[in-house]
Parts: sequence; structure tokens; C-alpha cells
Amino acid sequence: VEQNPAQPEFHQAVKEVLESIRPAVEKDEAKYRQLALLERLTTPDRQLLFRVPWVDDQGQVQVNNGYRIEFNNALGPYKGGLRLHPTVNLGILKFLGFEQIFKNSLTTLPIGGAKGGSDFDPKGKSDREVMAFCQSFMTELHKYIGADIDVPAGDIGTGAREIGYLFGQYKRLTNRFEGVLTGKGLEWGGSLARTEATGYGLLYLVNALLKDHADDLAGKTVVVSGAGNVATYAVEKAQQLGAKVVTVSDSTGWIYDPAGIDVALLKEVKEVRRERLTAYAAERDSAEYHEGRGVWAVKADVALPCATQNELTLDDAKQLVANGVKVVAEGANMPTTLDATKYLQENGVLFVPGKAANAGGVAVSALEMSQNSERLSWTFEEVDGQLKQIMETIYNNIATTAKEFGAEDDFVVGANIAGFLKVAEAVEAQGVC
Ligand code: NDP
Repeated sequence: VEQNPAQPEFHQAVKEVLESIRPAVEKDEAKYRQLALLERLTTPDRQLLFRVPWVDDQGQVQVNNGYRIEFNNALGPYKGGLRLHPTVNLGILKFLGFEQIFKNSLTTLPIGGAKGGSDFDPKGKSDREVMAFCQSFMTELHKYIGADIDVPAGDIGTGAREIGYLFGQYKRLTNRFEGVLTGKGLEWGGSLARTEATGYGLLYLVNALLKDHADDLAGKTVVVSGAGNVATYAVEKAQQLGAKVVTVSDSTGWIYDPAGIDVALLKEVKEVRRERLTAYAAERDSAEYHEGRGVWAVKADVALPCATQNELTLDDAKQLVANGVKVVAEGANMPTTLDATKYLQENGVLFVPGKAANAGGVAVSALEMSQNSERLSWTFEEVDGQLKQIMETIYNNIATTAKEFGAEDDFVVGANIAGFLKVAEAVEAQGVC
């Protein structure tokens, strides 16, 4: 805390991980102390902070802060998204970069952990202003990244448009066409099934979990929050696997559709027309629209928070338990508050943290890197098949690890220990560096 003042999110993330890996560390405490493994894992390899000057449409020069936290590359090139949002600061990016190390470790793919971004807000900016920002940001960042060094991706505020402008500037500065960013357009090195990956992956993992508990998704009622990328493809895959999804939400309201969410209409409203969920309700007789929040009060077997951080509170957890929900799996990053997680786990709900449950997105990003390296594009079926296998492997790994450490069905312990041990072994093997 003294070495990293005023970074509460980072302190919280480190504390959570360190507390849950305690049983693994205590097994070999003298070694961990002598090699300072925990100190090395909680100190980023490199923290890049830089000025991003750009000119707005009025001719005014604007200045933003740019960041890239290259946290750990023991398992492979640094990998993690770029967040563009006014709330971005060093502590938040360090928290996300730290978490990314263990998420990436769980994917079984050769990727290290990183995160970056800026306090620039793309909302309300013209395309030219966004391009000017991206070009300035990349003018500094390009010195530190590369296909075998550090491969950034999208995150909040960084979509296909921003990745395109960043890639164009990287190419111009280095004269290299290489897989230096993921989330690229399909025509220029992007991967099929990346759009679907996080939502589909979430459901592959939930299905594996249910099968392991002599159950499956067929006939289950599911509540989903969010109506963005993760939520939409979670709904689609859940319905393909025989479940009925009865809710979606956005930042202003939510839909209850007892006949089951119509995914084609949802995509038309949110992805094509970019309208609010009121438009969905207006075109579907079975749907009700409610202002505010409320999806966690609907009776269901499975709950999938897929919107944003801290959207499932202790009161929501109590409601879910009272309604008999059996599984909560996080599609979003940190959607469940700590006390809510504890309550769910203490009341017999199978809870899977985002680190494991939403790892499908970064896993397919790593498959995009593989395709770029061999200069080939795989079919949708090939990528989707690998995604399914990866999510099933993640489930088996976190379930086995939890059991091994005497915490059967505690997937928070399972995910943190499994992700941590692999990285710690690699750091140890690579000597003092
Ligand atoms: P999108 O921006 O596509 O969608 C987010 C959805 O959540 C939107 O429907 C948004 O509504 C809603 N939302 C945002 N804030 C709130 C709020 N305060 N209350 C209720 N609803 C809200 O993002 P993604 O689907 O890509 O990401 C969702 C989460 O998943 C994030 O936590 C992200 O970090 C995480 N994630 C995403 C991955 C990916 O591959 N996309 C990979 C791993 C994690 P509105 O449209 O009104 O803003």
C-alpha cells in the first residue's frame, strides 16, 4: 500500500487473490519468501505513462493521459485490452492488468498479462477526433509493443473503429503488417467467432459445470443482465443449448419476456439500429419493459451478469437465493460485489468468477494471434470448436484445483490457485528477472 498509494482497486484485487491462494502458498512458504515470488507477481514488469496530445474539431489542442501496464510475460507476450473511458487511472489499469495475468493463465494459451488505455472519452467525439487521438496514442505506444512483445486488444470504449485507427498508425510508423493488435476486421487479420466468443464461452463453461453436477441447461430458465456484446451472445448460446432466457437489460431499463428473448430482434434493435430496449418491447407482444433495474428479482435457475462491475449486490444475491437460483456465472468483469459473492457461496449457489467464466474472449484473441502467425484464417467451426474445448478445460481445471485444496465447488479458490500456480512456476523457472 505504501509503495502504491491511492490505488484502492489494485489493493483490493491483490488482497482478494492473495487471500484465496493462501493454502497453495503455505504449502511451500519458505520458497515463496526466498524467491520473493509474491512481490515479483504483484509488481508490474513495466508501467508506461505518457502524454497524448491531439487537435479537436475546433482546432483546440487537447491533452490526455496514456497508459500501458505490462504486468507479467512469464507465459507469453503481454496481452490485454485498451480501455478508453474518463474514469481510467493507474490504479484501475493495474487492477485489470493484475487480474488479466491469471485469466490468461487459465486459458492454457501462451499469453502474459497487461492492460492499458486512456482517460479519453470517445463518446460524443467525431470520427476525425477519435482518429486523431488514436494516432497520437499509437505514436508513443508503438515503441513498446509488437506481435511477439505485447499485443493490445479492445475493451470499454475501444471497438473495431478504434482498433482500425490504431493498427493503421502502427503500420505507418513501423512499416510492418503484423498481428500487433487483436479484434481486427475480418478482411485484415481478424478472427471469425471473436464477436461471439465471450458469450458463447460463458455458456460452454456453465454447461460443463451443470453436466459435472448431473444436470444440463435444457429446460432451464436463465436471467441475463446487459444487452451488449457479451449478453447478446450469451442469450443466443443459452437458447441453442435448450434453455429459456427471459431477461436482458441496459443502463436505463430491462425486459421481461416470458416467451424467451427473441435474439434476432435484440440484435436488430441493439447492433443494427442502436436503439434502446423500449424498441424491443414495442415490437414483441410477449415482452414487458421496466424502467430501472430488476432482472435479479425474476425467478430462474441460472443467473448471468453480463453488463458491468458491481451490478449484483448483496440484496440481489438474497433475492436470487430466495428464488432458488442454482448457478451464477460472471460474463462481465467483477459484476458481483464481494459480500454478494460470499452470500451466494454460503447458500449453496455454484458461483463462477469472471476470471474463468468470461475468459473465452481473450482465448479467441489468442487464437487470432495464432492465425496471424501462420497467415491463415480458420473457419468459424474450427475457432468455435477450440473455444468450447478451452472453456471445458478451464472448468475441469478450476473444479479439480478447488477439490485438491479442500474447497470443493469453490470456483473462486479454484480459479485463483490454478491461474496463480502456473505463472509462479514459470517465474521461478526463468530465474531472477
Ligand atoms: P457492451 O458495451 O457491448 O455492453 C454493456 C452492456 O451493459 C450494455 O447493454 C450497457 O447498456 C449495459 N450497462 C452498462 N452499464 C450499465 C449499468 N450501470 N447498469 C445496467 N446496465 C449497464 O460491453 P460488453 O458486452 O463487451 O462487456 C460487458 C462486460 O463484459 C464488461 O464488464 C466487460 O469488461 C466484460 N468483458 C467483455 C469481453 C468481451 O469480449 N466483450 C471479454 C471479457 C469481459 P447501455 O447500452 O445502456 O450502455
